[in-house]
Amino acid sequence: MGLEAYKGVYVFAQQVDNVLSGIAFELLGKAKDLAKDLSTDVTAVLIGSGVKDLADQLAEYGADKVIVVDDPELKEYRTEPYTHALASVINEYKPEIMLVGATAIGRDLGPRVSARVKTGLTADCTVLEIGDFPLNPVPGKENEQKHNQLLMTRPAFGGNTIATIACPDNRPQMATVRPGVMQKIDPIKGAKANVVEYNPGFTPNDKYVEILNVVKAVKETEDIMEAKILVSGGRGVGSAENFKMLQDLADVIGGTVSCSRAVVENGWKPVDLQVGQTGKTVRPNVYFAIGISGAIQHVAGMEEADIIIAINKDEDAPIFDVADYGVVGDLHKVVPALTEALKAE
Ligand code: FAD
Repeated sequence: MGLEAYKGVYVFAQQVDNVLSGIAFELLGKAKDLAKDLSTDVTAVLIGSGVKDLADQLAEYGADKVIVVDDPELKEYRTEPYTHALASVINEYKPEIMLVGATAIGRDLGPRVSARVKTGLTADCTVLEIGDFPLNPVPGKENEQKHNQLLMTRPAFGGNTIATIACPDNRPQMATVRPGVMQKIDPIKGAKANVVEYNPGFTPNDKYVEILNVVKAVKETEDIMEAKILVSGGRGVGSAENFKMLQDLADVIGGTVSCSRAVVENGWKPVDLQVGQTGKTVRPNVYFAIGISGAIQHVAGMEEADIIIAINKDEDAPIFDVADYGVVGDLHKVVPALTEALKAE
């Protein structure tokens, strides 16, 4: 079958416990941009048990159509039934583009589905756009350049370079996308979904794993992706105990503490609080980078913050290249002084 049979931008609308994940709305926002460039529409694929009521929310965030796969088998996420469900939707409806969040679920599901439907997948994308591929065609072979391709950009080689990847010869073009990177649209309140119910059927092969019991993780930390103000500490903070100083500052300004990977590796803070390429992508109004050098892998996760304030004793630290405000000084003096000054406000 020709590639032109594949139409539309599709989004896997992840839900957990029948609550849509933020990534579903972020992907819809991006899908709308892509669909506009391709003069096509946006479809959300909603998979679960008793999830149909969530479809209107997807319409509010930009889905023109919602394909619902609803089956008791799909109550909790399991690789095989979900792979079967999403791969069946792709085989039936033939999307041109299929986007999945690079969440724990999406990182498991996306590659399986891409293998099942025999196409490529670019993992962990941070930029998606429609364009020509190859970007720089060989001179004399310009007419071999393909148009209207999904150009998928992601950090490569430990974040030291940025790779733009396309999938010109297979469909759908599949990508997993980092949470926190794409912008959701302002919801259109009261939008009603155009729902299509689809039943892919289940066979015993789809039931490799039986769930006997679900033990929910107790969340001990706040979600740094939701925070408006982040007070982030790096190796320069010196110890787990010294983070109390950052917590005091955060308490005064209504902020949340986050950290660099060096801090996680030292065991001072849990990985949930890590900002960066292998941590979370954050977009707060204000980001304090305290005792953080500004390695490319850290900056990748926080450069979209509205205001970046860096405190570092090394005036040549790369963090100052991305900071809006910088204080060169010893954080042990600067942070308590700042906290006291703000308290007095
Ligand atoms: P350092 O680089 O050691 O910087 C400490 C800073 O504190 C220095 O600039 C120093 O001048 C300053 N300082 C020290 N004492 C004081 C003081 N008393 N007062 C003021 N300033 C002081 N890193 C991440 O953060 N997130 C990621 O997701 C991530 N992913 C990675 C993925 C890969 C594949 C790789 C290879 C690396 C990744 N890293 C990541 C690691 C990254 O390269 C850096 O090693 C890390 O960000 C450094 O953390 P840091 O800035 O806290 O420590």
